[in-house]
Amino acid sequence: MLKVLTHYFKAIVHNYAFCGLSGDDLSEQSRKVLLINLFCFVGVLFTLPLGLIAIVNQDVWVASSTLFISSLYTLNHVYLRFTLNYEVSSNVILYPLFILMLFLVFSGGVNQTGFVWIYCIPPVAMFLHGLKRGMIEIVLFLCVLLLIFLFPSELGATYNWSQELKKRIVYSFLVLGFLSAVYEYSRMKSISMLRNLSEELQVASKTDPLTTLLNRRGMLEVINKESSNDKQVFDNALIICDVDFFKKVNDKYGHNIGDAVLIELSNIFKENWGKDAHISRWGGEEFLIFIPSTLFDIIHPEVERFRKRIEKVRFGDLDNPFHVTLSFGIARFNYQESIDNAINRADKHLYKAKSNGRNCIVSD
Ligand code: GH3
Ligand code: MG
Ligand code: MG
Repeated sequence: MLKVLTHYFKAIVHNYAFCGLSGDDLSEQSRKVLLINLFCFVGVLFTLPLGLIAIVNQDVWVASSTLFISSLYTLNHVYLRFTLNYEVSSNVILYPLFILMLFLVFSGGVNQTGFVWIYCIPPVAMFLHGLKRGMIEIVLFLCVLLLIFLFPSELGATYNWSQELKKRIVYSFLVLGFLSAVYEYSRMKSISMLRNLSEELQVASKTDPLTTLLNRRGMLEVINKESSNDKQVFDNALIICDVDFFKKVNDKYGHNIGDAVLIELSNIFKENWGKDAHISRWGGEEFLIFIPSTLFDIIHPEVERFRKRIEKVRFGDLDNPFHVTLSFGIARFNYQESIDNAINRADKHLYKAKSNGRNCIVSD
């Protein structure tokens, strides 16, 4: 029972805080929506009781201003929920807060303690508008605060703080502004580091480290994405290619030379197939080329030209060169066939090419 209640409570809190967004990404939108809703909640939590107390004390100004803020923040949450427009919502949080804080300083607030609330300005401005805009807003706030402190009677302020207290309020506000800026800066740095790291990991998880071609996972993702288009004009082509007798290359010239052959082959693949094709290292000395929506009839002659080109390439040292050959299996497929099926067919063709004596092509 308690578990079910906790679950529902968590779901309601999550829904309130993220306005229905998942909230499990690093996006600016999720973060801002969460912050705005938290500020709306805290804002109502503070201003509503203050407003009610002011009504009891018959303080019309404080009562109307605090109750106005609490209704504004409630409406802001509703607005954000329907539009997810965090730019507007963050302004609705911050600027009335500015005015309320300046009003509290101007009027003295309840029992002349109004100034204690101004310290929420630096963190809120930084959280909502980031380092640059937040700093500008804090400085502007400080300027107006200084004006009220320097010319209270000229501006008609209802309470004049002592000179000593004014100085300390300004110093401590500056210190908090500085600390908030440092905090925001380090938060921004770590978020951008996390984002870069996550992007690097994404790329690494789809790339073969030796050849920098796509790996099996990366290639499957590309094929899945591109071959699901049922509006494609032409069929897709899958070319699977395996180096003949590669084990002998390793045995005779060493593993490092074997690696160099794979790297050089990858470069020739990239140069030959260009942008129209996606090239991957499918396994040890096997490569898979995927050409989406292509005139299938031209593929076989193209592969044949490529096969002949590879025959002529000199691998290894200048004084100890050698040649390698490639065998190919080619399959034609479209969105109606499963990718697994198409790859299996290309694989069978490759196997046939091997049993036909290698250095040749078998196609659909
Ligand atoms: P086949 O013509 O039938 O394909 O013969 P093969 O020797 O190429 O095939 P086999 O499957 O017997 O051997 C593949 C070899 O590829 C064995 C393995 O050591 C080598 N190999 C796989 N990955 C790498 C790699 O990353 N670097 C190097 N240098 N060799 C690799
Ligand atoms: Mg081989
Ligand atoms: Mg092989």
